[in-house]
Amino acid sequence: MLSVDEARQRMLNTIPVLPTEKRGILNCAGHVLAEAVSAPENIPPFDNSAMDGFAVRAVDVKTATEENPTVLSVVETIAAGHAPTKQVLPGQAARIMTGAMMPEGADAVVMQEVTALFSRETRETHPTVHDSVKIFETVSENRNVRFAGESVKQGEQVITPGKLLRAPEISMLASLNCAEVAVHRKPTVAIVSTGDELTPLGEPLTPGKIRDSNRYGLYIQVQEAGGIPVDMGIAKDDAEETERIFRMALSAADALITSGGVSVGEHDVVKTVLAKLGEINFWRVAMKPGKPQAYGIADGKPIFGLPGNPVSSLVVFELFVRPALLKMAGHTNLLRPTFKAVLAESVTNRDGRVNYMRAILTEQDGHYTAKTTGPQGSGILHSLVLANGLITIPAGVTLAAGATVDAQFLD
Ligand code: AMP
Ligand code: MG
Repeated sequence: MLSVDEARQRMLNTIPVLPTEKRGILNCAGHVLAEAVSAPENIPPFDNSAMDGFAVRAVDVKTATEENPTVLSVVETIAAGHAPTKQVLPGQAARIMTGAMMPEGADAVVMQEVTALFSRETRETHPTVHDSVKIFETVSENRNVRFAGESVKQGEQVITPGKLLRAPEISMLASLNCAEVAVHRKPTVAIVSTGDELTPLGEPLTPGKIRDSNRYGLYIQVQEAGGIPVDMGIAKDDAEETERIFRMALSAADALITSGGVSVGEHDVVKTVLAKLGEINFWRVAMKPGKPQAYGIADGKPIFGLPGNPVSSLVVFELFVRPALLKMAGHTNLLRPTFKAVLAESVTNRDGRVNYMRAILTEQDGHYTAKTTGPQGSGILHSLVLANGLITIPAGVTLAAGATVDAQFLD
């Protein structure tokens, strides 16, 4: 039997990274960038004011105080989006708005709050009738000025390949005048449930039948892993039908997930069909709940044969399929971080396999506590509904309350 780490590493080694494509920046959220993006121009493109206020020569207001303000002549008002038309000479200032271009001659901005517009003729401060400004505070050179290239220098590499594109990156691409970029494709993932007993939701349950729940959960897990799910419905436990649906699913997608039908003592149709599709390994992995029943590649496309038990399906997806889909999408950081948590109760794993128990993880002062979510049978979906994480209980041990275990969040 392989350990989870060994099986996962062997599997990941064979997972292809999907090819890249050019996409407009409004259509590439959630994709992984496949090229380096450099700045074609400075950001900001010119020196500008960080404040509403007055652009001045700092040396002119060296002695300005509340009691003894400096009076400067106002030569013009510079609004954002407009270029200055005048130089600021000694004894002068330009009224300036946030984001407006700094005028030549000025080297600092005094914020509006420590100034008053003033008329030399009437000797009065006045909001509209004025030709000058009283400055009540000194300002040091370069103060309240945002310099060209301060945020991004022309030619600088701003976003590196491998970066997940989210709102900030897309905002940045727009600021670099970059309308489209090369990204990895998101994997499309076909999902097929197998089993004569399965009934899709909405239809009445007849004797011996159960609801197909795995297909719905897997659909969301694919989405949450950044993939595009393709629902291929239910295949009956019939070799011909199963093969037809699996082949159709594979041709429609970059990867195939099948659920159920490969456990020991089962009709062997899924196993047989999978073996016909490509290079399939039927590894035995020492884990609970479930285990990946089959993994392989057909026409370069990964196939994951997941167990039918609902908890097993969800957990095996989390531990094996999610990292594989992340790799296909161009990610390099594939596994969720693990950390230590302290058991709030005694836990026994009688099995000879590692048990990924479903747990409620709580944090206090940087320390995590773990409590299991009650009955842990592989059919008991509630154990996952109540959980926010998994804890790893080694094979054949009883751990007392207070013992430390490895834990990971599921969300
Ligand atoms: P199998 O792996 O096909 O032997 O199925 C193991 C158990 O999981 C059986 O009790 C099945 O009825 C159940 N099961 C299989 N597929 C699903 C599914 N899609 N949704 C819910 N339960 C399932
Ligand atoms: Mg079955």
